Amino acid sequence: MILSRLLPFSALPPYATWQRFNAPLFTLYVLLHVVALAGFFTFSWQGLLVMVVMSFSTICLGITLCYHRLLAHQSYKLVKPITYFLALLGCLAFQRGPIWWTATHRLHHSKTDKEGDPHSPKYSVWWAHFLWPFFWHPQLDDSEEMLQRLAPDLWKDPGMRFLERHYNGINVLFLLLLFALGYWLGGGLKMGLSILVWGGFLRIIYGLNVTWLVNSAAHLWGYRRYDTPDTSRNNWWVALLTWGEGWHNNHHAHARSAKMGFVWYELDVTYWIISLFRKLGLATQVVGSPLDREKDRQRKGLQTEPLSMPLKETMNPRLPKAHQ
Ligand SMILES: [Zn+2]
Ligand SMILES: [Zn+2]
Repeated sequence: MILSRLLPFSALPPYATWQRFNAPLFTLYVLLHVVALAGFFTFSWQGLLVMVVMSFSTICLGITLCYHRLLAHQSYKLVKPITYFLALLGCLAFQRGPIWWTATHRLHHSKTDKEGDPHSPKYSVWWAHFLWPFFWHPQLDDSEEMLQRLAPDLWKDPGMRFLERHYNGINVLFLLLLFALGYWLGGGLKMGLSILVWGGFLRIIYGLNVTWLVNSAAHLWGYRRYDTPDTSRNNWWVALLTWGEGWHNNHHAHARSAKMGFVWYELDVTYWIISLFRKLGLATQVVGSPLDREKDRQRKGLQTEPLSMPLKETMNPRLPKAHQ
């Protein structure tokens, strides 16, 4: 069972045909992986530092905090200038513009593990991890009509439309900027290439793969607190790599919660930053976890609200052992 899921082409959705294969995008991503191998020859401590800082900025702040929890799920409100800045960081993660990302993610939540889910691991782990972006999904055709239908709130925002339209240019400019920074400040071609490869290509590849782990590993391995009608799991190592996104079963059960780690041992760095924003008065209307809401109501002496899914503190006994 587990072996068949690991085979790359054990099953593909019906629309994954050669006619729908996005060859230019696939070639670009393969080239990115190949160019990232230049990291072996261009290491510098400065390059590594830029990679670490930019990984945190683009994945934690750009994708997790902004694209996912703020834009796709509206789990809190953030002042506009910071929203645009964080969405710009999200663009630099090379996962496409904020409107397309949101549209794709909303489709994933509305059809999780059913026909139409853009990246369900029920086909294969490799499909969920990295093959899915390279086939044109029938409902994700890149048209303005599709973006307006699946993300009308973002489509109305001229700032988001600007980022969506200029996504390619923004990334090219930033890569050139990285090279220029290394070249002028670090002294020559060698440092320019080091900052470009480590802060640019390697950082992008690393960020893509840890994000894709949420689609693959966090739907395959880990425990289930909630009996959701999908395969989502709470996976601690994906949570560590993705600043809190690995608590994916919690997330599928309560998608609007800004907090994904529901109990103390479920570390959720992204939520710590949202809490900081709230304390600074930059974030408002933060949707808490169901457990927090419950405690809040008890504190206020209100009648407790029923949880939408049964809470389970133990692993789901019905799951096959290999998946836990
Ligand atoms: Zn999911
Ligand atoms: Zn989500």
